[in-house]
Parts: sequence; C-alpha cells; structure tokens
Amino acid sequence: MKVGIPKGLLYWKYGIFAEIFFTELGCEVIVSGDTNSEILNLGIENSVDEACVPIKVFHGHVASIKDQCDLVVIPRIMRLTDREFICPKFCGLPEMIKNSIPNMPDITEEEINAYHEKALYKSMIQIGKKVTKDRRKIQKAFEKAMEAYQTSSCGIHDEKYESKIALLGHPYNVQDPFLNMNVVNKLHHLGVGVMTEEFAPKKEVNEYANQLFKKFFWTFARHCYGAGAYFAENRKVDGIIYLSAFACGIDSVVIELLKDRVGDFPFLVLKMDEQTGQGGFDTRIEAFVDMIERRKECEGNFSSYGEHSYSS
Ligand code: SF4
Repeated sequence: MKVGIPKGLLYWKYGIFAEIFFTELGCEVIVSGDTNSEILNLGIENSVDEACVPIKVFHGHVASIKDQCDLVVIPRIMRLTDREFICPKFCGLPEMIKNSIPNMPDITEEEINAYHEKALYKSMIQIGKKVTKDRRKIQKAFEKAMEAYQTSSCGIHDEKYESKIALLGHPYNVQDPFLNMNVVNKLHHLGVGVMTEEFAPKKEVNEYANQLFKKFFWTFARHCYGAGAYFAENRKVDGIIYLSAFACGIDSVVIELLKDRVGDFPFLVLKMDEQTGQGGFDTRIEAFVDMIERRKECEGNFSSYGEHSYSS
C-alpha cells in the first residue's frame, strides 16, 4: 500500500513517528516535497479563502501527492496534553480536505489523542487497521515509531552566537523555511543565533504559564507563552520574534499576553500570509537586530561607566 504523508502542520513535530509507523507496517511511504510556491498555489486553489496560510499549505501538500497514494494521512489530532486542546482546525482537518480537494483517495479520519502513551496506542491501533488486521504487527510498528520519535530532536538551539533571538510560534510556522521566508538563515546571516521553545525547560515553561490568572487550554499557547516569559525574564535571549499566521486567533491572544508580560523587552511580531512580501520581512528583521545590537551596546556602556565611577 502506498501511504502519503503531507509535509505540513504537525509533520514538523511528529513526522518521524508517522513515517516509521507506516514503514514498519510494510507500506511504501510517500512524503510530499518541501513547501514551495507550487505547493502554496495548489493549497490556495484547493482550500477555503478564510483558512490560515499553514492550513492552505497543508492542502497544497495533500493535493501534490494524492494521485500517487492509496491512503493519505490526514491526522485528526484532538489532544496532545491532558485537559488541553489544540486549534479546532486540527479536529476538522479530514472534513476540510474531503470537502475542498476533489478525487481524494482513502484518508485517515480516526481521532488521535496523544496525551498519554496508552491513549495514543489506542488511536494508532484504529489507524493501523486501515493497513492490516494483524494487531501484533501494529503494536510493533507503534513501538518502533515511539522509539524513533523519542530519540529524535526537534527545534533549534544555536550555541555559537553572541546574540540570540527566541523564535516563537506554532512549530510549522517556525520550522517551515518557505512559510517563514527563511527567517533562521536571515538571522544567522546577521550574526544572530536562534532558540526555539523546545529548548526552554518544561518545568519553567509550566511555572511561567501557570502564573497567568487563568490556565491556558491550548497546548501550543502554553508552550509559547511559558517559553517566551522564561527566555525574556532570565535573559536567555536578547529579543523575541513571534511568527504568527495572519488571522490566527490563538496567536493573537498569546501575543498580547506575552507583550504584557515582557514589558520593554525587545519583541517583534511577524505576520505571515500568502501575500507577505520578502522585502518588508527583511527590513523589519534587520531593523530589529540593529535595535538589539544598539541596546546591548548602550547597556554595556552604562555598566562600564558604572564600574568606572565606582572604582574611582
Ligand atoms: S493555530 Fe492558528 S495557525 Fe495554526 S491552524 Fe489554527 S488558526 Fe492556523
């Protein structure tokens, strides 16, 4: 059986799990190519206008491989953490795809609950049944996929740069270089390293997020807010860039809460949609890095002035 895995949305976090799971079940796995303008245009043609750009891009990935596959993985992810949810668009993804893309082959529509290994196993048994009735084979494939996922790493942590910026946002916005117009390379080019939320300690992320008057019920909102507050207040980075998809409700809430929390700590929001221009993006990033460097210089001058006057 040929199984297609679209390289969009949470592929950036769990792609390795899906690839190993279906390979171990004996399928030929077809992963769509890297996002490019052709895939984006396919996504725009095959999705509703109101969808955010990561959802459109996901549609484009599906459309690009659907004719080569017997089954396409459209994960209906419900929960990643107990008593938390993710964007409702993930729960309705199979319906969106079926209604927007004509002539789809069979797709996975089963719910995926991943807040506990047992719950995830139950979900994967249902999905595995689309390929084989052999439960032991599905169990083995699940174990191999878990092992591969747990030993893989996700996120960015540049060690060798003097200046560092935290790049926050949903993982697909942060990690897909086409969607974010290669912001990581641009920062490297300007001599600035990058750190993503995966490298903030989990305990601290939760502690900072729990200081809010109300608990977050969106998993990625908790991650971004907690990591951003931790990075800023412990001066782990020199500034924060938040990559946000245009019209994303979750991002707009997190951005306001985080701005409130970090006060005058350098904070830049970059909005992405299918019409975002490269030039405007570059100028804003350069200006932000410039501001951070000058701020650091000023802080350095003040502290050396302070040391000097004290010793004399
Ligand atoms: S969380 Fe925001 S960016 Fe992600 S799918 Fe939902 S609306 Fe789109």
